[in-house]
Amino acid sequence: MKLGRILKNDKIEYGVQYENNWYKQDVNDDLHFLEQYQQNSLILTSHENLKDMEFEWLPPLARPSKILCVGRNYADHSKEQGKLPETKPIIFSKYSTSMAGHMSVIPYPSHTNNLDYEVELGVVIGKTASKLKSINEAWDHIFGYTICNDLTARDVQKSEKQWTMGKAFDNSLPIGPYIIPSDTIPKPTNNEIWLTINGEKRQLDNTNNMIFSIPYLIYYISQNITLEPTDIILTGTPAGVGFYMSPKNTLRQGDQISSGVSSIGELRFSIK
Ligand code: MG
Repeated sequence: MKLGRILKNDKIEYGVQYENNWYKQDVNDDLHFLEQYQQNSLILTSHENLKDMEFEWLPPLARPSKILCVGRNYADHSKEQGKLPETKPIIFSKYSTSMAGHMSVIPYPSHTNNLDYEVELGVVIGKTASKLKSINEAWDHIFGYTICNDLTARDVQKSEKQWTMGKAFDNSLPIGPYIIPSDTIPKPTNNEIWLTINGEKRQLDNTNNMIFSIPYLIYYISQNITLEPTDIILTGTPAGVGFYMSPKNTLRQGDQISSGVSSIGELRFSIK
């Protein structure tokens, strides 16, 4: 079962994808959507076949209360920048307005000449987490998982001390297509994470190679920032980003990007 949002006949629908069918839900906000799943009260009666529907994918949540991201969380990505692995997580933010849905066509942003790609596993919080006592209990606070891209204006990021204008601009967070609830799949700790551009493999690693694990990140953030249901955490990207290739090979207009995490699925978008 997969939870998401679509735009159909100019109306936003929250719904559930099960096999190839779409089950529209009678909810209008993110929190109730997650609660309906947690309370086992999603409506799985009438449905339509996704193949027969005309619709656009939207980001699976409309207004997550926070979007926190982790910088340099795979050792090979630190190494490609000539940096040693971090000793504590680098945390920064994106915003609801940063998000774009699966299959989005994203305009090349006007403030950069080095738009770069970063596939990441996204973790959606389902239960408030504040000052957790142990790393292991963090798993209980996860609602589910999704696929993200941390699009980065690399030249802008490098020109500022804070990363906000380089990382949190409009459409800098392609996300989706949907959220897979954590109780329906094994923990995604040994998953391939990958990205291709126009069919060419650029990023490939295993989520086992995160420097700071999923539960550690939740534990760590919760010591000082209360995590709430609908919050999303981006867990970092593997090596292979375009800016650190030689020669540089960042995104261009017309590029088709496909990215994924093996047990979650595939997120695609393009640049115009
Ligand atoms: Mg990133």
